[in-house]
Amino acid sequence: MGLGAMQVSTKLRRDECGYDHWCPGCQEMHRLPDSWSFDGNLVQPTFTPSFKHSMLKRIFVGGKWTGEWARDSSGNTIPATCHYTLTAGQLQFCPDSTHALSGKTVPLPDLPADLGDETI
Ligand SMILES: [Zn+2]
Repeated sequence: MGLGAMQVSTKLRRDECGYDHWCPGCQEMHRLPDSWSFDGNLVQPTFTPSFKHSMLKRIFVGGKWTGEWARDSSGNTIPATCHYTLTAGQLQFCPDSTHALSGKTVPLPDLPADLGDETI
């Protein structure tokens, strides 16, 4: 997750191999690798092509991850997908995303206070 990385705008952190942003659908940081095309705008960035993150469905209480994975009736973990484009600072979530913002477009949020640098 790269907490040692440097914050470069209210929205992005710079890591060794890409940028990190807060995902309001997954309630976690996602990596934007350097192999993607980036227009250099740190406040309203455009990256191409789209991003697709595969993970496991997590359990949230009051907007905070409990540290537990969601499980089906057989006790197995449940795959989750986050698929979106980031264009001019707008996160456009594709319908195959498994979280609540699936199919919606929302502004790229500021980094949560506890993930930002104090000096910016
Ligand atoms: Zn996400």
